Amino acid sequence: MANKWVYTFKEGNMSMRNLLGGKGANLAEMTEIGLPVPQGFTITTEACTQYYEDGRQINDEIMAQAMEGVAWMEKENGKKFGDLKNPLLVSVRSGARASMPGMMDTILNLGLNDDVVAAMIAGNPDPSFERFVYDSYRRFIQMFSDVVMEVGKKYFEQLIDKMKAEKGIKFDIELTAADLKELAQQFKAEYKKQLGKDFPSDPVEQLKLAIEAVFRSWDNPRANVYRRDNDIPYSWGTAVNVMPMVFGNLNNQSGTGVAFTRDPATGEKKLMGEFLINAQGEDVVAGVRTPMPIAQMEQEFPEAYAEFIKVCETLENHYHDMQDMEFTVENKKLYMLQCRNGKRTAPAALQIACDLVDEGHKTPEEAVAMIDPRNLDTLLHPQFDAAALKKATPLGKGLGASPGAACGKVVFTAADAEMWAAKGEKVVLVRLETSPEDITGMKAAQGILTVRGGMTSHAAVVARGMGECCVSGCGDIIMDEENKKFTLAGQTFTEGSEISIDGTTGNIYAGIIPTVDAKIAGTFGRVMAWADQFRRLKVRTNADTPADAKKARELGAEGIGLCRTEHMFFDPVRIAAFREMICSDTEEQREIALNKILPYQQGDFKALYEALEGCPVTIRFLDPPLHEFVPTESEDIQKLADNMGKTYDEIKAICDSLHEFNPMMGHRGSRLTVTYPSIARMQTKAVIRAAIEVQKEHPDWNVKPEIMIPLIGEIKELKFVKDIVVSTADAEIAAAGSNLKYEVGTMIEIPRACVTADEIAKEADFFCFGTNDLTQMTFGFSRDDAGKFLTAYYERKIFESDPFAKLDRNGVGKLMEMTIKLGKPVNPNLHIGICGEHGGDPSSVEFCHKIGLDYVSCSPFRVPIARLAAAQAAIADKQ
Ligand code: PEP
Ligand code: MG
Repeated sequence: MANKWVYTFKEGNMSMRNLLGGKGANLAEMTEIGLPVPQGFTITTEACTQYYEDGRQINDEIMAQAMEGVAWMEKENGKKFGDLKNPLLVSVRSGARASMPGMMDTILNLGLNDDVVAAMIAGNPDPSFERFVYDSYRRFIQMFSDVVMEVGKKYFEQLIDKMKAEKGIKFDIELTAADLKELAQQFKAEYKKQLGKDFPSDPVEQLKLAIEAVFRSWDNPRANVYRRDNDIPYSWGTAVNVMPMVFGNLNNQSGTGVAFTRDPATGEKKLMGEFLINAQGEDVVAGVRTPMPIAQMEQEFPEAYAEFIKVCETLENHYHDMQDMEFTVENKKLYMLQCRNGKRTAPAALQIACDLVDEGHKTPEEAVAMIDPRNLDTLLHPQFDAAALKKATPLGKGLGASPGAACGKVVFTAADAEMWAAKGEKVVLVRLETSPEDITGMKAAQGILTVRGGMTSHAAVVARGMGECCVSGCGDIIMDEENKKFTLAGQTFTEGSEISIDGTTGNIYAGIIPTVDAKIAGTFGRVMAWADQFRRLKVRTNADTPADAKKARELGAEGIGLCRTEHMFFDPVRIAAFREMICSDTEEQREIALNKILPYQQGDFKALYEALEGCPVTIRFLDPPLHEFVPTESEDIQKLADNMGKTYDEIKAICDSLHEFNPMMGHRGSRLTVTYPSIARMQTKAVIRAAIEVQKEHPDWNVKPEIMIPLIGEIKELKFVKDIVVSTADAEIAAAGSNLKYEVGTMIEIPRACVTADEIAKEADFFCFGTNDLTQMTFGFSRDDAGKFLTAYYERKIFESDPFAKLDRNGVGKLMEMTIKLGKPVNPNLHIGICGEHGGDPSSVEFCHKIGLDYVSCSPFRVPIARLAAAQAAIADKQ
């Protein structure tokens, strides 16, 4: 056989995740260890890739193997697909290599048609069975139409609502067998009306269309967004799992549930989960009915519950990690439908990692490797101010589905959330329940509040994945989504009303409760200490103020990798002097203006050295184009003119002359020093004088400033600026009788600097990759404007991720490697880091480790992420 596209659950195992997807590999693994799994088969992720290569067609070879899988499944289960005596119904489910909850498609009850339905009913005289069959049938038509044929759900929901109104009933469960039979016919008529053809009655045709739909769903917009957010390559594809249905909605001896072996919100070691009697899996996950806690299952189905507890233990001991499981009980018998390592909040991830080490399941190295560094971000997010929270009275309570604090203005739709957020407003998205289409709105919001749904509802799972606060299932809310309002405890909220929600307690408050920075708990420190033992890369921070630097130190930064000095010029007194400098006619005037700024800069740098207590501090000289500093308001222009004894028009003319068509490629960076050497002289004096003072006050610290010249593209340019710096610094040091040491290095952010790194390294003590500019100049994309067209690049699969967020290894990365290769032999003492935004992105950090950088530098709140990512890179390297 040329290719094997299909594996039965008896042929696979957990090591085949790349080929079978997570769900398929785990179903096979559960089969192998003897757990009760309905026996089906998996169509591989490679088949998905082939489907796209074949122009979105399932080729005959794949389909033939799928039908062999069906034949095997029929034999294994003693039932036949489309048979009138003993029909086999199946579910068709997606399952990628990395779990993507709710992003792709699932079809249940496949294999039903009018004849099969009639035959099933004829074979079972129990009247409640007839109701079950028609309920399954109408669900299947509804799901197939929606998922496979993309006929909107709403048409079918309207028909259900109409039927309920005619019958004067409130709940679906009150619909009789006859009602459901009638609904199934209405649904098929609706299908024909919408698509102009009959609903497919041939189970094989249904199956082929469903498999295609799952493959197609790999490329749906929400999956694409999820992949980009979670760094999952498009090339992986999804597998398709076809397995026999077991019916949680058969009768009251049946039910369905989802559970976690540990609490996914806190990590506590206790079974957590939810169960619904007489229901199918979609009912639990969709959050349409609020389920009962798993413990209650013990009373309803004691034997299945006892078996389930054993299964949980077996799975944890087998996978050595917290498991997230889906199961069904049919006529009191337990079936396992899925298991996977459960998604968890950041606090839970840390707690579980520590507990697994203490319980002997994992080594510290393995524990460090299992935490998603991006998750840590949520730990560092604000919490409600405890005093303010104590004073506030909750209006209501839902489930604390994803921890953290969120406050903002109420919005009712995902689109509104995006719109308000784009205007800079903080919003809380309030919905009856969320669905996968809401994902971008959920992301734009500070938090999510839902009326329906449990801890495993869509809103809860997705919010936890995003590290966003979520309160779910607040049934006391009287919701009027259509008119964008709701009432809670007698208070009416409309769009724009202020609200606060607590994702830990589930409490809901009117108004805005102030928040404070999060405190870092014990498990966090423990995991970080392990990470620090394993990593080779140092982690510095990008900080311009002592407050930022202190925060970063608390979070583990080992130095400052980038202090952008321009941020220190925007204070009103300094900007006035700086504007004088820009508008000076003579060098003397310029010196006078700069001398006004010197003491301020010196004070700034002193405070930074003090905050860093002897750790390295890299100070980057002035970088942005001068026009960013000049006045634009006529009042300010007049003020400057008055200060300088010039006319309004003279100043206006100077300011206008600074206009550039391409400022990011313009008069900025080292080019400023080339035209105005006095700026670099002033900054050097400030750096050196501050260092001498601090070194004197703290003889035990090693104060050694690193002066960094931005935007170098030519060795002579660097040499010119460096000579100014060195002569100024040496004169200062000599005058002070000090023996201060300092370094002069350069940012590498122009491709020409990369390709001439062998020359540049001769004049530099260090290189620091400014990958924001390097990405901009390598692609020729403006870093300020690229966002406007990058979406089209994602949609057309030209890019899978934003190159300004995740380092482009093939292009920018190659330039970095070339730089190191050329630079190091010329100057073996050269130390090399990165301080572009990529320094805090886990995948980019991994690359920086691989190419042998000495350090990464990132914003303070990303320091822990970089520490963990650096450790994981080192651990992976070792393996
Ligand atoms: C860079 O270009 O990557 C960098 C760190 O400098 P800035 O963002 O200030 O241009
Ligand atoms: Mg730059």
